[in-house]
Amino acid sequence: MSHFWCEAAWIGGAISEKVLIECDEAGTIAAIENIAVCPPFATAVPGLTFPGFANTHSHAFHRALRGRVTQDSFWRWRDAMYELAARLDPESYLQLATAVFAEMALAGFTVVGEFHYLHHQAGGRPYDDPNAMGNALTGAAKAAGIRLTLLDTCYLQGGLGKELSPPQRRFADADVDDWARRRALLKGYARGQIGAAIHSVRAVPREAMSEIAAAGRGGPLHIHLSEQPAENQQTLAAHGMSPTALLAKEGVLSEDLTAVHAIHLEAEDIALLSSSGATVCACPTTEADLGDGIGPFAELHRQKVSLTIGTDQHVFIDPFLEIQRLEMDQRLLTRQRSVFNVREQIDALTQHGYRALGWTNGGLLEVGALCDLTSMKNDSVRTAGVPLAEKASVASAVDVETVVVGGRVVVASGQHVLGEIPALLREAIDPLWG
Ligand SMILES: [Zn+2]
Repeated sequence: MSHFWCEAAWIGGAISEKVLIECDEAGTIAAIENIAVCPPFATAVPGLTFPGFANTHSHAFHRALRGRVTQDSFWRWRDAMYELAARLDPESYLQLATAVFAEMALAGFTVVGEFHYLHHQAGGRPYDDPNAMGNALTGAAKAAGIRLTLLDTCYLQGGLGKELSPPQRRFADADVDDWARRRALLKGYARGQIGAAIHSVRAVPREAMSEIAAAGRGGPLHIHLSEQPAENQQTLAAHGMSPTALLAKEGVLSEDLTAVHAIHLEAEDIALLSSSGATVCACPTTEADLGDGIGPFAELHRQKVSLTIGTDQHVFIDPFLEIQRLEMDQRLLTRQRSVFNVREQIDALTQHGYRALGWTNGGLLEVGALCDLTSMKNDSVRTAGVPLAEKASVASAVDVETVVVGGRVVVASGQHVLGEIPALLREAIDPLWG
């Protein structure tokens, strides 16, 4: 049993001051009560405490591209990403992902959905342990103290009707059965879950989509959707419909599905996503960095689609920046203010994100919920003088001071339990570029 006394906490979308949170041995919240003074047996948590933040879309290894492919087109960026992927092995993947997951924890993320497709050796031959790469991610999450949903990704072809290119062979299994067999062998751990992903309507043949959805049923299923106009054009040419309509036809749209990006949507696509109960994951800084476009997130929100947040390629790892960018981009797009209020922005980072990653009892501060906490400074140069309820809309990842995952303190006074994370990042990334 552990106790955290929070100076202020975000409970049910409102601020409650001087809150004692009791955490049981299983890492869930056993009691919440208001107590004026921190009791001697409790850990004092200064600042404003939120339920932990969910990073719903990540490719950990893309962090090694930060600042290195800054001017080229999306497709040239993708080639550079393939070159990087070719240099990774289970050992370097573990080292890199540990540092990246630790960076996420420092920024206030308590759970990550890792969209994992780097399965095999260069050339496509499986490792002796066919999940050597996936298990490296699990090891990294354990070491960094973060919760993980490993979204094991099915990747079967190089594009609509295209063979795999040599760098893509590492990503691919022979067919859906081969993917499902390998995925069934993944090692679990107490703070981990296994989910499924279809890479995109480009990388999986139409007839395989419903099989993947069936194999992953009951858990989270994710897919990249309409990030670039080229995907829509190619899908229209091959199948006579949009990628979203194709997912609907193949029975993939459901409340288990999270569609990542969902930028280039027509009105019918938005209606399909809404009526299916699917979630949409926005990755605002990645979409801006790659020049993808601004998604119709205000309209999706108006049509009751749950939105979540991902840092995707990790040009930035900052939950506050993502929700600020989400809101500001929509203001520019709609020429209106307050598309998402702060409560809705925090919901995207917390309960919507946890649900999209299969942690249905997370992302809330209430009895029975996972004891995952993220606390930020109330009085930094950015947040001083700002009303408590609005601080998240001006804060930055560097304001995060305390992070707790399942009752375990992972970040205290702005320091990660693994020590100096910049050094870990340098040691993992520099050798890759030799
Ligand atoms: Zn992605």
